[in-house]
Amino acid sequence: MYTYYISVGSNMGDKRGYINSAFQSLQQHEAVSKLVASALIETEPWGYTEQDTFVNGMWSCESTLEPHQMLSLIQQLEQEAGRKRLIHWGPRTLDLDIILVYDTEGMLISLCDESLVVPHPHFWERTFVLEPLYQLLPTFTYKGIKVVDRLAQLSV
Ligand code: AMP
Repeated sequence: MYTYYISVGSNMGDKRGYINSAFQSLQQHEAVSKLVASALIETEPWGYTEQDTFVNGMWSCESTLEPHQMLSLIQQLEQEAGRKRLIHWGPRTLDLDIILVYDTEGMLISLCDESLVVPHPHFWERTFVLEPLYQLLPTFTYKGIKVVDRLAQLSV
């Protein structure tokens, strides 16, 4: 059994609608349990800034799916939301990223291959990822720094 932290974002059309539909699909998946969502926050675009504001949040769940199987599942949910990749870091109907994966013993898993990198390479730099993560996992510490302290560092 794995525990996943998955970031969610949308900045096109019915943003909260895309996020809520994907949440319901994941909730109904037979291999997924204990799905919990953070509150959604509105954030300014990152990278390519000439685009609409984002709605971002975080989900946690348990699953028997291996990390690459979970990646396929979230990519399927992105496809269902009709995501189009026209511009790198550009507008998207739904963006799902695997941020953290824990194994059954509660150990944080590190993986790096051509299709999957966890922990997600940019997560520790992004307030819009860390704020919702803090809601779900307030005790989270990475490389000796508490997430609450990391958020304070990023806000200066
Ligand atoms: P993006 O367009 O930013 O959602 O990136 C999607 C691509 O990132 C896919 O080709 C994935 O295989 C790859 N990828 C690598 N690590 C991750 C991760 N932790 N979560 C989601 N996608 C990932």
